[in-house]
Amino acid sequence: MTLDTPTVAFITVLVICLQGGILTALWLIHRDMRGIGFWTAGAVLVALGVLGAFLRSNTMPSAALAAANITIVGGLVVTWWGIDDFFQRRPSYRLGLAILALTVVGVTWFVVTGNSRMRVLFLLGLFALMAGLRLYSMLREINPGTRFSQILTSVALGAHGIYYLVLATAIYSLPPVDKPLAQLPLFGWLFLIPMLLSIVVVFGIVLLVNQTIATRLQESARRDVLTEALTRRAMEEMAADELARSRRHGLPLSLLLLDIDHFKLVNDQYGHAAGDTALRQFAAAVRRCLRREDVFGRLGGEEFCALLPSTAVEGAAQLAERIRQSVANLAVEAGGNRLSLKVSIGVASLGEHGGSWDELVNQADRAMYAAKRAGRNRVVTAGAPASVA
Ligand code: GH3
Ligand code: MG
Ligand code: MG
Repeated sequence: MTLDTPTVAFITVLVICLQGGILTALWLIHRDMRGIGFWTAGAVLVALGVLGAFLRSNTMPSAALAAANITIVGGLVVTWWGIDDFFQRRPSYRLGLAILALTVVGVTWFVVTGNSRMRVLFLLGLFALMAGLRLYSMLREINPGTRFSQILTSVALGAHGIYYLVLATAIYSLPPVDKPLAQLPLFGWLFLIPMLLSIVVVFGIVLLVNQTIATRLQESARRDVLTEALTRRAMEEMAADELARSRRHGLPLSLLLLDIDHFKLVNDQYGHAAGDTALRQFAAAVRRCLRREDVFGRLGGEEFCALLPSTAVEGAAQLAERIRQSVANLAVEAGGNRLSLKVSIGVASLGEHGGSWDELVNQADRAMYAAKRAGRNRVVTAGAPASVA
């Protein structure tokens, strides 16, 4: 089958402009999301460059052709920056600008010397390089929630890169042709393949944004709005996993139950808003004492818990004491007032004080109440007598 080259080239231009439009819409909808602005700018630059190269036919001066080529590479560089920005990494601005400078020099040189074949080879090499760089940034870290879109986009980018390399090799090894490339019978296909691949890339990007939003929503539904601690339900889910893991590997696991002392007085004396600020700062102070793998949740009101994997009861009690001191040293600024907080903490460990989540919570809760009864602002381990100060 022969594809009519001007028709395919025209459709390619239309499709690429449409992609620029889709990404612009995506950017207008998700202005707050990083990276999309780069992708929109990149897509618009590529569309302008392709449109320019297409309109050139034979009438456009060579300076305009060079500008069109450079614009396309510039668009690819900006798109690449967008991928790193999207994943909250610093884009490699220097390398991108260096590639762009190389493009300006190379393309200008080949246009001035009228070496169209070398210009095409040079551009194909740059396209392959940019496909490779985008592939690398897309695959550097795979997030569980966006795995599918990351891999889909990467496959399309990889195919792009391979396509340009194969094409460059073919052009390089074939004898130069006299007539313009566009008049070759197979030329239509050469447009079609990258055009189809680019549709997959844009689809992958839209899906990536979609999956990222879905993951963020799921994650925010698991967290308490005020303190960003896990909700009770999310905490119970995490606990089930941690308990199973600890049992499987025979590792210790401990639970701290924390209840702020006389918190009702904070609300009564300083108002509910000050109480909220105090809760937020309390949660932040506790989190600073925890390790990455510890799981911190809000069970309700001014009651929190921390699940400590690979931590035996002695270590847990020491950590609880550190938390108690950090909280006592906290100076909460709320509504022009400076207030202090105290916390009572109950400690329980898997095996020693129970085998299930409910048993652990129960034991830690009893220890926490023992701490309250013994005068508050202290740590009590389940089963141990509370020392009275
Ligand atoms: P204890 O030392 O015995 O724990 O005394 P307490 O005052 O801390 O305990 P109590 O259970 O009587 O009071 C808890 C208070 O926490 C009552 C409630 O108004 C307050 N509280 C619960 N959730 C929030 C919240 O989200 N924001 C604010 N500001 N206060 C809250
Ligand atoms: Mg309390
Ligand atoms: Mg309470």
